[in-house]
Amino acid sequence: MKKRGHYCKICGEYKANEKFSGKGHAAHICKACASLPPEKKSEMMTVNRLLSLPWRLSKEQVSWLKKKTYDKNPDIRALAEEQYEMRFAPTQFDEDEADEDFIEDKPFE
Ligand SMILES: [Zn+2]
Repeated sequence: MKKRGHYCKICGEYKANEKFSGKGHAAHICKACASLPPEKKSEMMTVNRLLSLPWRLSKEQVSWLKKKTYDKNPDIRALAEEQYEMRFAPTQFDEDEADEDFIEDKPFE
């Protein structure tokens, strides 16, 4: 038997097929995460994305990350600041803003 799981974009884990409902499959959301309230889902997805950012960020990623340092959720804000400061000096916060908005529910490819 092949051991191929599916990636859940909310918790960021590879899980077995049966951990996904039919709909969750296409959406890349496992059953456990599908039952979470929407704000929790987006929080987890954001945290997951913050943690999986590459070391060298694209302009869009920098812009997205910067935006997250102003997030209304303090946990996300703290994590975003941490990720940002790991890569840039905290004094360089006023770089040009990229003009494109990120579409929230699309994970980085
Ligand atoms: Zn999940």
